[in-house]
Amino acid sequence: MKNTKKYLAVLLAAVLLLACLPMTGLFVGAAEVEGCEEHTPGDWIVDIPATAVSEGSRHKECEVCGFVTQTEVIPVLGEPGLQDSLIALLEIIKNFAKLIVIIVIFFQQIKTLT
Ligand SMILES: [Zn+2]
Repeated sequence: MKNTKKYLAVLLAAVLLLACLPMTGLFVGAAEVEGCEEHTPGDWIVDIPATAVSEGSRHKECEVCGFVTQTEVIPVLGEPGLQDSLIALLEIIKNFAKLIVIIVIFFQQIKTLT
């Protein structure tokens, strides 16, 4: 009975391992051998998106067999914080515009009162 459990555990581990194999891309090379005289690369597939502080990576796969035809580094996205400060600036301008509208309405109201 103990042995049965052991075998089941090993079997389960093996099944899980096999299920994970396609994710590792180990079969990409094998697929290439099977088909495709000329690969047809698809769109860029982002593996690691670039951030403000670190570069990312992307690749193109053959649409037929999945062979990786091209890999590329995605450069770091601009100065860190630059986008944030632009958004903040826009927010300030928006609020300032609102304030002006309120002041204009306020003075118009005063005019109508006097
Ligand atoms: Zn191919």
